[in-house]
Amino acid sequence: MDLRFTPDELEFRDEVRAFFRAALPANIRRKMALGQRQSKEDIVTWQRILNAKGWAVPHWPVEWGGTSWGPVKSYIFKEEMQLAPAPDPLSFNVNMVGPVLVAFGSEEQKRRFLPKIANLDIWFCQGFSEPGAGSDLASLKTSARLEGDHYVVNGQKIWTSRAHNADWMFCLVRTDSNAKQQRGISYLLIDMKTPGLTVRPIHTIDGEHHFNEVFFDDVRVPAENLVGEENKGWTYAKYLLGNERVGIARIGASKYRIQRAKELAAQVMVGDVPLGETERFREKMAVVEVELKALEITQMRVIANSLNLPPGVQDPASSVLKLKGTELQQAATELLMEVAGSYALPNQPEYLWGTATEDPVGPEWAPTIAPDYFITRAASIYGGSNEIQKNVIAKRILGL
Ligand SMILES: Cc1cc2nc3c(=O)[nH]c(=O)nc-3n(C[C@H](O)[C@H](O)[C@H](O)COP(=O)(O)OP(=O)(O)OC[C@H]3O[C@@H](n4cnc5c(N)ncnc54)[C@H](O)[C@@H]3O)c2cc1C
Repeated sequence: MDLRFTPDELEFRDEVRAFFRAALPANIRRKMALGQRQSKEDIVTWQRILNAKGWAVPHWPVEWGGTSWGPVKSYIFKEEMQLAPAPDPLSFNVNMVGPVLVAFGSEEQKRRFLPKIANLDIWFCQGFSEPGAGSDLASLKTSARLEGDHYVVNGQKIWTSRAHNADWMFCLVRTDSNAKQQRGISYLLIDMKTPGLTVRPIHTIDGEHHFNEVFFDDVRVPAENLVGEENKGWTYAKYLLGNERVGIARIGASKYRIQRAKELAAQVMVGDVPLGETERFREKMAVVEVELKALEITQMRVIANSLNLPPGVQDPASSVLKLKGTELQQAATELLMEVAGSYALPNQPEYLWGTATEDPVGPEWAPTIAPDYFITRAASIYGGSNEIQKNVIAKRILGL
């Protein structure tokens, strides 16, 4: 098996790299370099630049704005985006609801939604998790009752990322409470402005507002917003969650953090010696780098194998990528915490957004490091928690 890139793939990598260098707006580039958060406007601006180039939804079919890249070029594209570093296109739109509509939506739904999803004219959020239904998602209770030509939705979702930014939600609801758990679930598209829908913020330890609770109190949703067939939503959700795990190892993002930790460790002195030259730090850095290289080779193997799999079938090894990839993302943020030391905690939370009114205590690059460390703890929970990935590895790879 050849794990090296071909000359054509290397040429493609250079083209992508040059595009990111030229097209990423300076203010977004600066925020990314300092580890600051992107506003809704930044994410929309960047996705529209990508869409104008034909690269916002490269994995979609060509007729809906995609490319014919295949897995290797898609991987190169993602890695270059993380190394630039440039913001990801909105995953809820491009990796989740978009591909579900391509595969299972009606022609009318495709025409109505797909172009706007690609161009981020509408922002979707994901209404899956509920209190008591996270890893065990099939036990969800939010109900939808068909009354004439509307579903009437009641219940609650939780951990809904960026629901406060969203125009629409793709939502799993229970339409048959008598059927076996997985069989009574449907997939609805819900306009966030519908009366009876309330979004309540949840603030996290990194000082941000990522999450929300969303409450439904007799929310009336036109029946035409049902995707596919009633009570088949679990099939569509499984398809979607498979897509959520694609690229979840985020190797480019870990490489970027490690490179940053090295550069900064050369500037931080421990007595007369730069931190980066101390034996203890070098040893820690080497462990993370070696493991990342091993993961990269595993990633290449998974990509090479995926060329032989039927469309939509996931290699169980993607669970290894999720597990190890998130552990290494967390390890890289720990290295950065060590470099920043006590300066990692911001004296003003606004550093995270680039809107602080005071100078930071310590170097300009430091105050976003603790928030990044904190939010990266979440990587081992979303997209199927790491314990669940271990269950998959035990069952489907090790046959236990
Ligand atoms: C950053 C982030 C963003 C998110 N965004 C969204 C979003 O936009 N929309 C949305 O719907 N959800 C979202 N979620 C929710 C996420 O999908 C759930 O947190 C996740 O599925 C875990 O569910 P839970 O929190 O209910 O934990 P639980 O399922 O209650 O798990 C609690 C603990 O028990 C372990 N556990 C559970 N079952 C097993 C088992 N069978 N074997 C071994 N261990 C087990 C878990 O690994 C975990 O450690 C987000 C979560 C995070 C962290």
